This record gives sequence, structure tokens and C-alpha cells, in this order.
Amino acid sequence: MDLTFTPDEEAFRAECRAWLEAHVPHGLPSGDTRAGFAAHLDWERTLFEAGWAVVSWPEAYGGRGASPMEWLIFEEEYYRAGAPQRVTQNGIFLLAPTVFEFGTPEQQDRILPRMAAAEDLWCQGWSEPNAGSDLAGIQSRATPDTGGWRLDGQKTWTTRGAFCTHLFGLFRSDPDAERHHGLTYFLVPLDAPGVTVRGFGRLDGDEGFAEVFFDDVFVADDAVLGGVHDGWGVAMATAGAERGLTLRSPGRFAATAARLVDLWRARGGSAPPGLADAVVQDWIDAEAYRWQTFWTVARLTDGERVGAEASLTKVFWSELDVRLHEHALALLGPHAELDDDDESARWMKGYQFALSGPIYAGTNEIQRNVIAERVLGLPRR
Ligand SMILES: Cc1cc2nc3c(=O)[nH]c(=O)nc-3n(C[C@H](O)[C@H](O)[C@H](O)COP(=O)(O)OP(=O)(O)OC[C@H]3O[C@@H](n4cnc5c(N)ncnc54)[C@H](O)[C@@H]3O)c2cc1C
Repeated sequence: MDLTFTPDEEAFRAECRAWLEAHVPHGLPSGDTRAGFAAHLDWERTLFEAGWAVVSWPEAYGGRGASPMEWLIFEEEYYRAGAPQRVTQNGIFLLAPTVFEFGTPEQQDRILPRMAAAEDLWCQGWSEPNAGSDLAGIQSRATPDTGGWRLDGQKTWTTRGAFCTHLFGLFRSDPDAERHHGLTYFLVPLDAPGVTVRGFGRLDGDEGFAEVFFDDVFVADDAVLGGVHDGWGVAMATAGAERGLTLRSPGRFAATAARLVDLWRARGGSAPPGLADAVVQDWIDAEAYRWQTFWTVARLTDGERVGAEASLTKVFWSELDVRLHEHALALLGPHAELDDDDESARWMKGYQFALSGPIYAGTNEIQRNVIAERVLGLPRR
């Protein structure tokens, strides 16, 4: 195994670093508020205009055809420069890989350039009031109609749904089929007649979630992604992107670990016993995730697929994120609860969000079930 980057990769890193250092905005308000979301969109459109929004996509769709390794390098540099989490992430990191895999050429041409340019803003409509972990238990339904489908039902926990223009979601299209069958994956404009979007606040007060109601909403046949009644397999491809490589690339955690080490340097002198070891372990874990991801990318480049193993990754990054923030709060001590300085406020906000990591993208209990049954081959009972 060759653990060095090629000269071209080093040149790519230098190019990203120079551009990001010159352009990254600092101190944007939360992207989970209406005003903050708009400010983040300005930034993401700047990224797009400079060709950095979707580096791994083909040039025809607004990318620069970067290799998976270059994409990882870009992500490292993005977070290293202190750039904010992408508010377009559910489109570019979750839906787009699925459109590349399952979309018709017409769907790819229609959807991807507008997504890259942050003109169409996508949210994920899977969870329902009575179906979260049990995604196959959804009750929202799709009924065939001339030239398309009628959608009815309700989605919830739709991240940034109140600020988005489109939703990708799973609907039951065959009421008589067994659980994982008879589901269809739809792409729905949120301004279609019959759609009602109602934003609501999270525990931290930001309007980060929405409920989306569908009342006899017509969508044409070309709103189906993948095959009719084959939505489960398409949704699992999206879940693989969410748990595995694209949603939470290692650069994000490496940057947080680097900030934690900086915090230790500033405040570690009076830290409680044991915290030094914990900070070192966190840094090692973030590096381990980084190298494990390089290995995964090398395997993908060789034509292998990552299936249920994405669940291992998801448990690892989500629990690491909690530890990184817990140790920062321990270093800050009582000061962690004061929002009179940007650094404390940033760690506290990050901690609150990190706590949701073991829940979203499929809870960690569910991931452990997947690991037990599908990675280790253990019996269900
Ligand atoms: C920050 C955040 C963003 C989100 N964004 C979106 C979004 O954009 N779109 C969307 O559709 N959803 C979104 N969700 C919802 C998320 O997908 C669900 O919360 C999650 O799937 C769990 O479903 P639930 O909340 O209904 O909990 P439940 O499924 O009711 O689970 C409750 C508890 O029971 C445990 N449990 C359930 N079944 C089992 C089992 N078989 N074995 C062991 N334990 C089990 C769970 O692990 C959990 O601890 C988001 C959630 C969060 C926190």
C-alpha cells in the first residue's frame, strides 16, 4: 500500500487550500434558521461559481471531474479552512449519488445542474409520525393516475424542509405488497398543489425541521426515481451515502479534532486528570477514520461495493463526534455554558448537534442490528 499522495493530488490540495483560505466566510448564522439559510446559500453559490461546489461530478453538471481521492482532499481542506457545513447536503451528498446510479439521462440533466447551482434545494422525506427506524412501515401512499401518480400522507423530521424547494421521498405504491416491496421513490416539487410544509423548531430553537403534508398531489411519471415498486433498493443506495462516505467525510472530524487540540493547548494546564489521554485518543480516532476512508475509497476505485459496512462507519463517526465535543466542554468547564464568546458558543452548538448523530441517518441501535446480522452474520435472535 502506498500511503503518499501523488504530485497531482498535492497540486490539487494546494489549489483548493489557496482558494478556500481566500474565500471562506466566517461567523455565518445557523443554517437552520431562515436568515442563516439564505446566508449559507450565498456562500454555496459562490462555491459553485468558482467550480468547487461538487468537485467530483462531471464538468457537464457543474463539477470538475475530481477523483474520489481528490474529493476527500477537497473535503479535508474545506473543513480545515473553517468552512461551514453545507446546507445543500441532502441534495448533493444523498440524492445526487442515487440520481447518478438510478436516474435516467433525462432526470440527470434536469436535476443535477440545478442542484449543483443551489437553485433547487432538496430535503429528505422518509420519516413519518409512525415510521422512523421502521422505514418499511411508512403509510404515505402513491396511487396511479393518468400520466403519473397521486401522493397522500405525511412526512416529518424533514431537515430544513421549510427552506427547500424539492423533496425526495418514499411512498407505498402497492398496498398489498409485503413490507419492503411495493414502495416507490419519488422526486416532488414542494410548490405542487396539495403540498403543505410546516416548519417547526428543534430543542435549540432553530427551525431546522418541517412536517410535509401531501393531499392528492399530482406528480408525473418522470418523478419516479428507479423502478415503480422498487423504491426500497433505491432508498438503500441513498442510505449508504448517508451512513458511509459522502455525508460525513473525515475532514469534518479531523478539523474538529484539530480544534480540540488547540483548545487543549490554550486551556489544558488546568484540565481534570485523564483529559489529556482522552484528547489524544480523539485525535487518533479522527485520524483512524481518515485512513479507513482512504482504504474504502481505494476499494471503491477497484470496483468493490460498500454495503452494510456503511453502518460500521456511521456508528464510528457519530460516536466520535459526541466524544470530541464532550471533551471540549470538559476543557471549557463552567465557561462552556456561557455564550459570551464565539468559541464556547460554537462548541456548545456543536455538542447539541453531535447528540443527534446517533439518531439521524438511522439510529445506532438499528446500525448495530445491521452490523450483527449483515456484516457479522449473527442470527436475528
Ligand atoms: C437531526 C436529525 C435530522 C433528521 N433529518 C431527517 C430528514 O431530513 N428526513 C427524514 O426523513 N428523517 C429525518 N430524521 C429522522 C430520523 O431518521 C429518525 O429520527 C430516526 O430514523 C429514528 O426514528 P424515530 O425518531 O421515529 O424513532 P423510533 O424509530 O421510534 O426509535 C425510538 C428508539 O427505539 C430504538 N429502536 C427502534 N427500533 C429498534 C429495533 N428494531 N432494535 C433496536 N432498537 C430499536 C431506536 O434506536 C430509538 O432509540 C432526522 C433526525 C434527526 C435527529
